Amino acid sequence: MKKHNLVVIGAGPGGYVAAIRAAQLGLDTAVIDLNERLGGTCLRVGCIPSKAMLESSEKYAEVSRGLAEHGVKIGKAQLDLPAMLARKEKVVAALTGGIESLLKKNKVHHYRGRGVLTGDGKVICEGDETFDITAGHIILATGSVPASLPGIEFQGYHVGSSTEALSYEKPPERLIVIGAGYIGLEMGSVWSRLGSKVTVLEYLDRILPGLDAEIAGEARKLLEKQGLEFHLGSRVTAIRIEDDQCVVQRDGAEPVRGDRVLMAVGRKPYTHGLGLETVGIQPDKRGFIPVDERFRTSAAGVYAIGDVIGGAMLAHKAEDEGVACVEGIVTGYCHVNYEAIPAVVYTHPEIASVGKTEEQLKESGVDYRKGVFPFRANGRARTLHQIDGKVKVLADRQTDRILGVHILGPRAGDMIAEAAAAIEFGASAEDLARTSHAHPTLAEAVKEAALAVDGRAIHI
Ligand code: NAD
Repeated sequence: MKKHNLVVIGAGPGGYVAAIRAAQLGLDTAVIDLNERLGGTCLRVGCIPSKAMLESSEKYAEVSRGLAEHGVKIGKAQLDLPAMLARKEKVVAALTGGIESLLKKNKVHHYRGRGVLTGDGKVICEGDETFDITAGHIILATGSVPASLPGIEFQGYHVGSSTEALSYEKPPERLIVIGAGYIGLEMGSVWSRLGSKVTVLEYLDRILPGLDAEIAGEARKLLEKQGLEFHLGSRVTAIRIEDDQCVVQRDGAEPVRGDRVLMAVGRKPYTHGLGLETVGIQPDKRGFIPVDERFRTSAAGVYAIGDVIGGAMLAHKAEDEGVACVEGIVTGYCHVNYEAIPAVVYTHPEIASVGKTEEQLKESGVDYRKGVFPFRANGRARTLHQIDGKVKVLADRQTDRILGVHILGPRAGDMIAEAAAAIEFGASAEDLARTSHAHPTLAEAVKEAALAVDGRAIHI
């Protein structure tokens, strides 16, 4: 029988970060993970490999478009997809290996196998070897898996998830993407840049539900210019395979034909075989594990964080919850500020957001002021030759407190950090506007949008 203060099941961004924080706080900690490579979906088949492919495919697209604007003459770009995929694998291997070292350095014990709850304070790890483990505290951080649509199964070559779309051995001639969310737009962009004709079928009448509608609408236009074709208001009902072709049926519209389908309609919590019933945990209707504000489940000593408890399915949200959960265990206090969790879609240009959208403010009747600044008026964006997009700052009309910041533009994902910090510190638009921003940088557009809240942007 092995014994630890804390056992974390799942070594994704939520789980491994929780384990490291627990070790820092002096708990004898272990993680259990099924996979040889640590880091969960994010590192193995999610955030990291997709960003590697986004980066490489954007380089290919940029070179294919030509660099004549910059006064650089080059020959015809050639795609070496095996090399691109190999680079992606190398990045993944380096980072997953890095997690292993981090755990070692922090003296976190790693069990390889499936972690299964077997009763109060008891877990078994079923792998090449089986371990019986007891722990004072257990954190469930098992994440999520791709969801499909009712009656539609993932089927090998033809109908796959993001996992397959990270490794197509050649660009499909016609790729049908179902769902215009994060995965649909990111992986749709990758394959469109590499030569596929990409058709995106989206149930709603807009892309990126949940993000600010004005920003999402502009992003759609830019993505259309890049060659993605959107069919909004398209509810997919069935897919059949005919002569090696996918025929995707929709409500009240012609079917769409393609070579491969990427199903990107969301993810569902992964609790299969976790033994929840042995400790009396009942998932909710959608399969998520209910928790309280300290991430405690209904079972004493069992906690849950990350995708498996619902909310935004984002790696950094899981990390924040992992840290908070462990601090709650050790100190009795913890807090995650869900108002200040940024979201980034890594298209080109990127789309980034934190806080409330304009729709949410209108819905809840909040009186706000809005400042907008376009990148075409930003010097650095001009020098980069990337002038599409804008920054939008929303602030309370009475108090000037920043309520939301939405950016469509180059490196928006990096720039949103400033806005998240501003919201975390309860800053006003005036605070942001009076903060010195280096010139010439893209971030000056954030300052200018904050100035625009008060109608006093300088460069427009
Ligand atoms: P998503 O929730 O972002 O988007 C799913 C889309 O599918 C929605 O637009 C929805 O309206 C649409 N849809 C649902 N049913 C449909 C139907 N029958 N026909 C057509 N469209 C339909 O989900 P995703 O893109 O699969 O991503 C899964 C999760 O992974 C997300 O929660 C996201 O947070 C996370 N993720 C994040 C990043 C990032 O942070 N950059 C990248 C990839 C994935």
